[in-house]
Amino acid sequence: MPNRLKHDSKLPGNKTSIFSVMSKMANDHNAINLSQGFPNFETDQKLKDLVSKAMNDGYNQYPPDSGVQELREQISLKIKSLYGKHYDENSEVTVTSGATEALYTAITAFVKKDDEVIVLKPAYDTYEPTIMLSGGKPIQIQLKGENYKVDWNEVKSAITSRTKMIIINTPHNPSGTILTEEDMLQLQDILSDTNIILLSDEVYEHLIFDKEQHHSASKFPELSERSIVCASFGKTFHNTGWKTGYCVAPEKLMKEIRKIHEVTVFSVNHPMQRAYAEYLKNPDNYLELSKFYQTKRDLFLNLIKDSKFTYTPSRGTYYQLLNFSEITDEKDVIFAERLVKENGLASIPVSVFNINNKDNKQLRFCFAKTDDTLEKAAEILCKL
Ligand code: PMP
Ligand code: GLN
Repeated sequence: MPNRLKHDSKLPGNKTSIFSVMSKMANDHNAINLSQGFPNFETDQKLKDLVSKAMNDGYNQYPPDSGVQELREQISLKIKSLYGKHYDENSEVTVTSGATEALYTAITAFVKKDDEVIVLKPAYDTYEPTIMLSGGKPIQIQLKGENYKVDWNEVKSAITSRTKMIIINTPHNPSGTILTEEDMLQLQDILSDTNIILLSDEVYEHLIFDKEQHHSASKFPELSERSIVCASFGKTFHNTGWKTGYCVAPEKLMKEIRKIHEVTVFSVNHPMQRAYAEYLKNPDNYLELSKFYQTKRDLFLNLIKDSKFTYTPSRGTYYQLLNFSEITDEKDVIFAERLVKENGLASIPVSVFNINNKDNKQLRFCFAKTDDTLEKAAEILCKL
């Protein structure tokens, strides 16, 4: 019998994520991996002990679908102390399977067929496929210049009666730039009197350098009323493999998000939630992070200062963009591949996140690595 199974792909344009491609290439070629964003050092032993304790104490069955109460309380307290906004832990905070699920549920809960969602490019690679799975249409706007600034007039002109949502990401992956208070106020102004939801991806909120401040959407009263803010414990506590994050939003929005969360994952791993709830009681565990990563950024930049790469120092995230136009005029994807295969160093070519894959001759390097790894990577970069 011939196989009559036929189906059209729901995401025909989607290829394997660049993060999987580059990490696999790094493994296959035994290369130093500064591509996918994860640390190559351990999460705090205290946190691992708290997870073991939770398991041994019997927290091994389903937790409440919205997350462990104590963890939601701690999240609410943290946001109140940092950004001054109170989110009710019972109705406005949900623990998710990483920020990825928070973003997925937030988009899926609201975007319907033919709705438009404004996406600032280069953008993290899950936003647009998720919008399209919901039948929505991503409206791409390119960030401008070396510093990836938002042209708010362009954003304003892109708004139509079909605009359902706008997605921002600060500190920004892959560029390492941040939105200023002025940016957020302009956004608040543009969105006032509209029915548009703001989806704010703030997974790098605790990785911000040179005494800059993170301007969370939750800090701006008018903006927060229409905002869903997504966060990731994996990024903050060096355990991306635990895939735990959360989102916060006003009750009216959260009610809808929880409907999708329930049918997507229902609830998130229980022992990790118990551990994070305890660990969050000491704010130093996240407030010290910027200093820690700034030292790594400075070490990396100092080590490559005599190389042919040019750069603007990253202001947030654990990524540094390096421009290679003084080394080669190859396309970034080609150069990135050659760098792994011939030189043993993996990075991420930025063009994959740009509109029409525009190539600005930039590679993204993750500096969430031991000093020893950064030194070895810099040695390779300086020889090019
Ligand atoms: N948003 C951005 C901008 C990211 O870089 C990442 C990768 N951590 C995520 C969302 C997803 O976070 P998580 O690993 O918690 O799912
Ligand atoms: N957020 C990480 C990065 O930008 C990777 C996440 C993933 O592997 N999907 O590198």
